[in-house]
Formats: sequence, C-alpha cells, structure tokens
Amino acid sequence: MSDIVTRFAPSPTGFLHVGGIRTALFAYLVARQADGQFILRLEDTDQKREVEGSAEHLVASLKALGLTYDQGPDIGGPHAPYKQSQRLETYHAWALRLVEAGRAYADPYSPEELGSLREEARAAKKPFLYRDHRPENPPVWDGKLPLRFRSDPKAYDWHDEVMGDLHTGPEVVDDFILIKSDGYPTYNFAHIVDDAEMGVTHVIRGQEFLSSTPNYLNLYDAYGLDRPVFATMPHIMNEQGNKKLSKRDGAKDVLDYIADGYLPETLVSFIATMGWNDGTEQEVFTMTELVQKFSLERVQRSGARFDEKRLLWMNGQFIRELSLDDLASRVEDFWPDSAASAEPDYKRKVLALVQDRLKTLKDLPTLSNYFFEEPSVDTTLITDNKQLKKLDIAEAKMLLEQAAQALESSEWTPEAIQETLNHLLETTGQKPGILFSLVRIATTWAPFSPQLNDTLTLLGRDRTLMRLKNATDSLT
Ligand code: GLU
Repeated sequence: MSDIVTRFAPSPTGFLHVGGIRTALFAYLVARQADGQFILRLEDTDQKREVEGSAEHLVASLKALGLTYDQGPDIGGPHAPYKQSQRLETYHAWALRLVEAGRAYADPYSPEELGSLREEARAAKKPFLYRDHRPENPPVWDGKLPLRFRSDPKAYDWHDEVMGDLHTGPEVVDDFILIKSDGYPTYNFAHIVDDAEMGVTHVIRGQEFLSSTPNYLNLYDAYGLDRPVFATMPHIMNEQGNKKLSKRDGAKDVLDYIADGYLPETLVSFIATMGWNDGTEQEVFTMTELVQKFSLERVQRSGARFDEKRLLWMNGQFIRELSLDDLASRVEDFWPDSAASAEPDYKRKVLALVQDRLKTLKDLPTLSNYFFEEPSVDTTLITDNKQLKKLDIAEAKMLLEQAAQALESSEWTPEAIQETLNHLLETTGQKPGILFSLVRIATTWAPFSPQLNDTLTLLGRDRTLMRLKNATDSLT
C-alpha cells in the first residue's frame, strides 16, 4: 500500500450528477493506481441544505458504479467517523488551537452591522474585506458567536494538476468563518481539518472551490500543514458547450441511467472520457484500463461536454462486448411481460439475436416482443416505408404469398432459409431492400429486427407462415 490518499467528499444535498461522479471517479482512479486509499466523507455541516435520503443515495450510486471506498461512513476506518456532523469536537479542538495562537477571533457583528460595513465599502468603491474590520477587543469565543480566521494576507504561487501554475496576490486573502454560530464548522474549515487528520494527499474537487484556494493556503500555513496536491475539475458543459450542464440539459441521476438500461461500465467510461483522454484515439475504456492509464495531467482545463448521443453509442458498444451469460443476468428485469412464461433456453436464443442491436437494456421489449406474442399488425410500417411504399398493394400481397410458398417447403436452418430467400429474389426480380424488408415487417411488425433468416429460424415455420398469411389478409 502506498501513502496516496484521496477522498470524495460530497454534501448530502441531492442526487449524484455526472459532475460529482466524475470527481469521485478520478479520486478513485488516483488512489487505485497507486495502491492507495480512497475515502468517502460526508460533508453534512450545512443542515439547511441537507436533503433527506441523499446520503444513502450517494452511497448507492458509488456502489452501482463500482467505486468502492476503503474508508467511509458506513464501513468505518482508522479516522472514523466519516460524517462531519459527528466530528464537531475535532473541529472545536482545532479551532481552539487557532484561538490560543491569536489566529482566530469571535465575530461580534450582527448581520445588520455587517450589511452597513459592506455598504460603506461599496460607497467608497473599495472591495469589502472582513480583515479591515477586525474588532479591537473581540469578545471571548463562547461557541455562540461565529469564529473567524485571522488571516495573514500574502501572495501565493501554487500548482494545480489540472489548472497548471497559479498565482494570486494578497488582496484575495481574507478572514473567513471557521465555526458558525450554530456550532457547525464551515466547509472552508472542516475540509482542511479532515484532510489533515485523514492524511489526504490529493484534493480533487470541482472548480467552484478554486477562488477560495488562497484562503485555504493561508490556513494550511497557519497550522504549519503541508499542502496536498490540488486537482481542480472544470465544469461539465451542456452539449452545445455554452453553459454549465444542468438537469434541464437532460443530465440525470446516475441511478436513473442504470434504471434506464445503461451499464455501469458505460457510465464509468463515458464519464472518465468527458475531458480526459489517454493521448490516443481510444474512446472506450474499461475500469482496469482506466486504473492503468488515467492521469490528472491529461484532464483538460476547459469544460468537457456532455453528449448524450455518445453515451448511447458507447452503451451499445459495451452491451455487444458482454458474454451472453453476463447479458442474460443483467436483463432479467428488462424482458417484456410476454416473455414471462418463455423457456430460458428460448429466451437465450432471442437475446443472442438481439444483443448487437440493443443500445440500452430498455430496448429489449421492443426488439424481442414479437418472439413471445403475436405482434399487432400495423400496415403503416409498410405503406409509410420509404422503399415499400413504391409497391402497390396487389404487388405486396403477391410477394408475401410467394414468400410463404417458398418458405413452406424450405428446410428450416438459417442457411437454408437464406438460400430460399435468395432464390426468391431471382424468381421475383425484386431487390433485397424490398423483398426482405417486406417479409421482415410482415413477420415481426417491429421497426427493427435482427437478420431475417435468423429471425425466421427462431420464430419457426408455423409462426412465420401464419404471420405472412395474416399480413397478406391485412393489406387492403
Ligand atoms: N462538500 C463539497 C461539495 O460537495 C466537497 C468539496 C471537496 O471535495 O472538497 O461540493
């Protein structure tokens, strides 16, 4: 085991969106590739923003994607507890160290007083800084007033693995709140205490914390702590790339994607490749490959785009690669109702046929229903079909009858059926685009289906002939 420690530190304020998952995934990969530790820490110090059930939801989402953590609220670990609301004494003790060193003070101002101080700064066209208003004789900190950090403004140079070399001047460093009047620490304070106590070596988090980093550096200095490695994740943008991805752009909860028939492997690969590549043209990665190849330096600085079409394409790729056994175990909840009493062996054959056409597991009913029950006839599939609408009804009926005749005496293997159909092309003088589409639709009434000869083989001769006859009768 190495001493690399990363953490994912979500606040339980809602569902886990793709941006959050990406941060978690990258932190996971950095830990795994170094044989280090990956920690889940719940940052639940903002009680007003907490959403009931979201902590469980976060845990379920990480588990669903295989992002197993080595330490966390539900499994414990050497630095337990991993829930900030259960660590208040720790923050208090760390805060007292600053108070004793003269580096923190009780903030005596009421919100109204602060409001008028801000107003004064605005009128004087000066930036408002708390440190310009430090009380001369601050009251003793009794835990009821907010506790504010007494900063030591200076310029900073630091390196961010993603954002590069950064510099800020002393003007951005200010006194910030460590402990709020409700006794809970701020994120700004608590995460530094926890990262230090938990031995976190790499802080991987979203862009929204970048502007506060000089203040964090100032706090590291005040405690004499070594800085961790910083890696700031740029925002994920909508498909057009013109604004931050939001729910309105269709970004769903990861568990919803799974319920919609996306594979966890797809989500992992898709999320990893939003703003990261390995320097080659490779687009699809397994978790094992990601652990080998991922590096923070190759994460792009500019916002990556969320392209749902790419996600769908990638899911099809992953589904195709699954062994039939694996696929069978994953589609158990996706079969159409009509398959309820079908023989397992028959279902396997159906699955083998449709596997390459599944884009999500949810496509299974549409792609397979006609193997289990009589499809309802929808002649518009013929009359509105680009190719088939050129045929007049009489011609179409005739072709269907000829197909039925030929198939009636054909042997019933995929090869023999193919031969029969090829022969029929010759005798009718039709193109495959017409004849095969017509037979395919007349036997499945589905917008897509697997290869015609395979489909007919599995349907069996009786059903094929019956459906062809029904189709002929329905065309008027
Ligand atoms: N609790 C912060 C959030 O949910 C985490 C930031 C961090 O990883 O330090 O955004």
